[in-house]
Amino acid sequence: MAEFSVRTKKRQEMVDITGKVGDLVKQSGVSDGICLVYVPHATAAVAINENADPNVCGDILEALGGLVPDGRWRHDRVDNNAAAHIKATILGPSEAVPVRGGRLRLGTWQSLMLVELDGPRERTVIVEVR
Ligand code: ZN
Repeated sequence: MAEFSVRTKKRQEMVDITGKVGDLVKQSGVSDGICLVYVPHATAAVAINENADPNVCGDILEALGGLVPDGRWRHDRVDNNAAAHIKATILGPSEAVPVRGGRLRLGTWQSLMLVELDGPRERTVIVEVR
């Protein structure tokens, strides 16, 4: 198992971690298997989608904001970040990607993204390759 840190810079953003995870897959020596990418956080998530056009990530965050408005939830009275918890639950804390020939078997337009929903913060990404 390997881990790395990501220092996010905005309240909400999607950070492309495909290269870093791909390096860890290579270092693992696994040729064919599966790569689990997981964040041990309640207000961050992992997603796979397009980053070639950065508007896609902006659109995803905007759509989530429309689904889950800020400031109207019970947990907001505790630490004012309920929407981030709800969005993180919708997206989920992990993705599993097939490994083929020592590489992540992602599609041409797919990238692995850390989704920050209550930043900026230091986030940990855990990568397990088997
Ligand atoms: Zn909270």
